[in-house]
Amino acid sequence: MKITADFHTHTRYSHGTGTVTDNVVNALSLGLRAVAITDHARNHPLVGVKPQKIDKIRKDVVAVGKEYRNIRVLLGLEANLIGPRGDIDVDEELADKLDVLLVGFHLTAYQKKFGDYFGLPLNGVTHIFCKNSAKQIARNTQAVVDCVLKNKVDVLTHPGFRIDVEMSEIAKACAETGTYMEISSRHRTPDVKGIEKALAAGAKLIVNSDAHKPVNVGKCEWALDLVGQMGLTSEEVVNLSDKPIKFRRGLVV
Ligand SMILES: [Zn+2]
Ligand SMILES: [Zn+2]
Repeated sequence: MKITADFHTHTRYSHGTGTVTDNVVNALSLGLRAVAITDHARNHPLVGVKPQKIDKIRKDVVAVGKEYRNIRVLLGLEANLIGPRGDIDVDEELADKLDVLLVGFHLTAYQKKFGDYFGLPLNGVTHIFCKNSAKQIARNTQAVVDCVLKNKVDVLTHPGFRIDVEMSEIAKACAETGTYMEISSRHRTPDVKGIEKALAAGAKLIVNSDAHKPVNVGKCEWALDLVGQMGLTSEEVVNLSDKPIKFRRGLVV
């Protein structure tokens, strides 16, 4: 079992260790037909990509794509959820410059408003004290649901990683909007139960590496083992075959 394309990889433009070329060369060595460069967006502390940098990254992506013609090299960003109402740190103007928009719920992302630091598990303030409270889980869940409903998100990365959410609710919003839920090999989430909930709600899944080193691009053993054990196919996990994949924002690969 293998993936045919990896839609979540980082480079030195945020805190990955390789260049765009390095990621593409590794993807090609595994026979992938596409690889997306999806560095962290601006509110990721210290390493987030400033919007004005995106044109430079696009140039790089285009140049590398011309050099390696057997693979599609795509430009994306991994946006951050930046508040309890589902706002993200990539606006539509910036998103229109991308091929694919990922969004992740990260513990330490800078929030939109100061007060929001206490509404979501940011920097651990709320997280430490009420991580597992039903109220906090409901708040986290609502933020992700609102995020998927109000932003045209192609892929929700690592749902449930370090932050408790109600997977069924999130999956319902993803199914409704055509947002793919990532099975993250790097962060080992969601687990079997979470995947079952996602499928029951009608959501589609995608397996990505979230590689921060070129050598990890396309490497998704943990996720693929799980997918294999569960007997899933490209009907449920969109990047397991060569069938075209249609993303919510319009990209077809
Ligand atoms: Zn992430
Ligand atoms: Zn990532």
